Amino acid sequence: MLINLTEVLSLEGKAKSYEAGLEIDEFTCRLGSYKIIDKHPFELTVRNIGGRKLELSAFVRLSLIIPCDRCLADVVTPLEFEIAKEVDLDESEQDRIEQLDEKDYIDGYNLDIDRLVYGEILVNLPMKTLCKEDCKGICNRCGTNLNEATCSCDFDDAMDPRMSVIRDIFKNFKEV
Ligand SMILES: [Zn+2]
Ligand SMILES: [Zn+2]
Repeated sequence: MLINLTEVLSLEGKAKSYEAGLEIDEFTCRLGSYKIIDKHPFELTVRNIGGRKLELSAFVRLSLIIPCDRCLADVVTPLEFEIAKEVDLDESEQDRIEQLDEKDYIDGYNLDIDRLVYGEILVNLPMKTLCKEDCKGICNRCGTNLNEATCSCDFDDAMDPRMSVIRDIFKNFKEV
């Protein structure tokens, strides 16, 4: 969704609100593609703060479906964040590139809502996603989801060093 900013630019000191919404249904980043669900339309306020500078503010709510870090089950992950940005339309695209300013959501006099929200989802992504705190994950040998079943893989080589001590003790008993 594009919002044309020319009207607000002519209203110095004034603000205008827009009903905004997301068009994208999927969020794709380095980590993967996550489906976006529960998209709520939101109010975006554009305030003209003079000198061709605009202040953008909004409160966005949506949910992403992110796979559990351990067992890959879908986890509905609600996200809520505030957007507060200042843009200077006198800055040319070249200026922005030089300042490493990633305001790729401004295209001429248009504000690209999808791109604006995309950038905010990126910084608001949770560091880790678990279907439950004690998710047991997937057996890395046979692929069994250990939340649903146990497998008969030999865990002798398990990483827990305490277990290997016990195992050694048992071995010694057997050899005697
Ligand atoms: Zn899980
Ligand atoms: Zn297994």
